[in-house]
Amino acid sequence: MKCKRCRRTEAAVDLPSHHAAFCPDCFFVFFRRQVEEGIRTLALLSPEDRVLVCVSGGKDSLVLWDILMDLGYRTEGLHIDLGIEGYSDRSREKTLAYARSRGKETIVVDLREEGVPIPEAAKRSRKEECSVCGTVKRYFFNRVAAKRGFTAVATGHNLDDEAARLLGNLLHWDGEHLSRQHPLLPEETQGLVRKVKPLWRVGEMETAAYGFLKGIDYVTEECPLSFDATSLVYKEALSLIEEKMPGTRRRFYQEFLKDGGRFRSEAIVKGQDAVRTCLACGAPTYTETCGFCRLKARAIAGAERRRR
Ligand code: SF4
Ligand code: ZN
Repeated sequence: MKCKRCRRTEAAVDLPSHHAAFCPDCFFVFFRRQVEEGIRTLALLSPEDRVLVCVSGGKDSLVLWDILMDLGYRTEGLHIDLGIEGYSDRSREKTLAYARSRGKETIVVDLREEGVPIPEAAKRSRKEECSVCGTVKRYFFNRVAAKRGFTAVATGHNLDDEAARLLGNLLHWDGEHLSRQHPLLPEETQGLVRKVKPLWRVGEMETAAYGFLKGIDYVTEECPLSFDATSLVYKEALSLIEEKMPGTRRRFYQEFLKDGGRFRSEAIVKGQDAVRTCLACGAPTYTETCGFCRLKARAIAGAERRRR
């Protein structure tokens, strides 16, 4: 099959959801346009921004960093070492090697040094690993960005991640999470740095193809703690539907974002949500004490229970 764009070269990437197939060069053009369009339509970033890119060492975050650099944004990478034996060391290595190849430095936060490696923190607080991981990562993303004067935090969530999350939130009619689910969370005056997801228009397969064709060396193994991640169930369900009805995933998520986001409140859109200051650590939070401090308190209580 010939490339649908140039009609000369053999197609290398088949995209049923776009009724298209591209040769490598035309696929790069397509992918780049999708990301640019995603940034432009939702005003995620501006050329003046200093962007902190959260890089795990997996394909999505390294592709994100790669394309933001190619698009000319001022970026730095932040890697959070989760303290998961073996897997975290390999992820850190891939991140640092990629950064070196692009002549970039990476800021590293080591959760073992911070006293909250994910496996132990989850065990001690008796909470699910992925939920602990999410809380801890969000905390450090914002803390590092605010301390070092970044104007935006970018994460590599793609269309498949966001559609799966939307399905989960809808199945539970989780109004709170639905109101905050968006590729743009504006900055709040009280110290919450703007959060953006520039890959929201591109799917997992497209991101993987981009990474592969660009020769980006990323961690291919799954996180060993992902075995009971519910997001994988939602992803599988959507993949099944997508296979029978290509384009459904894209429509599902894009319709949700219509008119500024179907479940968003005015306060969230304007960045005037009721943010407070955590009573324990001073970080911005929507509750009395922030999620990170509550987690730490639970983990400490858990450790004491064990000692007794
Ligand atoms: Fe963190 Fe869960 Fe993802 Fe592993 S699978 S990196 S524990 S969120
Ligand atoms: Zn706190």
